[in-house]
Amino acid sequence: MEAKTLRRDRFSLWIAELLRDYEVIAPRDELAYGRIEAPEEIWRGSDKPHRPLKEFFFPQRETLFGYQVDGAKVTLDQPPHLEADRVVLTRPCDAAALTILDKVFFWDYQDALYREKRERTTIVSIACEQPCETCFCTSVGGSPADIEGADLMLAPLEESFHVQVLSDKGKALIEHSEALFGASTEKENQQRALLEDAWRQRIGREVDIQNLAEKLDFDSPIWEALTEQCIDCCICTFLCPTCHCFDIQDEGDPLEGERVRLWDSCATRLFTKTAVHQPRATHASRYRQRIMHKFQYYPKNFGRTLCVGCGRCIDYCPMGIDITAVLQAVKEYAHG
Ligand code: SF4
Ligand code: SF4
Repeated sequence: MEAKTLRRDRFSLWIAELLRDYEVIAPRDELAYGRIEAPEEIWRGSDKPHRPLKEFFFPQRETLFGYQVDGAKVTLDQPPHLEADRVVLTRPCDAAALTILDKVFFWDYQDALYREKRERTTIVSIACEQPCETCFCTSVGGSPADIEGADLMLAPLEESFHVQVLSDKGKALIEHSEALFGASTEKENQQRALLEDAWRQRIGREVDIQNLAEKLDFDSPIWEALTEQCIDCCICTFLCPTCHCFDIQDEGDPLEGERVRLWDSCATRLFTKTAVHQPRATHASRYRQRIMHKFQYYPKNFGRTLCVGCGRCIDYCPMGIDITAVLQAVKEYAHG
């Protein structure tokens, strides 16, 4: 794997060069990622934004097509394409989450809208020097310097960034601003490895997910006790970088309008309700679905958890429900 070095004092120059030819998306503040117009608009906090990166690939509301009906004639309007190729600066957990979404959007149906956004975006991950209290990425196969989903991985060293070139898209981005990068030295490679170890040690939360899938008992009475305080606010699903449930609705009238895809959530009462039946009528049955999907159903289909351990659902649940405590309790109950 090729490694480069970028002096810290050249970082803003690099972003300025990228802005000439790409749309650049980065953390704008502690709340959200957004499009930036200048390097100084990048929020330099050590945490990830409250809102995950997924909305730039799987928007909260997305037009699938417009329609007009005139007698027997039906006209469909395709949604607009991206205006430019994009570069995203993100954290390792949000980059890893994209590979999880890929498996869904390229599974039995190839989602062309999602594909365009993925193909025209280069992902630059920046390692987390100061993981936050609720991060548990190392428990679910990640790390503060995880390369999953990244085209380039930037690890901050004392005076430079160690840059791993991980794909052709990453290579093209380096070639775009070649003069700013140098070859990484052996000393920098070693420093990077040591630092990753130190960053991993700073992850203070751990959950043992070994054999967890077999221990998740659909009929266990413990679900009720664990989640009776849930108020169905959906924050945990909307802020989760991997949750991807959606609904499709027609907006307009039968003669003219748009078919749109909107985020939905298994935490809501209406999500699975049909005209004749409500299979998930209680808070516990809905929360159980979320956990079973993340730690049993998705792993069965795709071989990894539907969770990157970002901790957002712990940070922002208004009722204090902590997914790591729930998983621990489920395991302990299964042990008897
Ligand atoms: S389930 Fe919670 S910790 Fe896991 S990825 Fe989603 S928000 Fe992050
Ligand atoms: S954030 Fe908490 S209260 Fe809201 S739906 Fe999720 S578990 Fe329930």
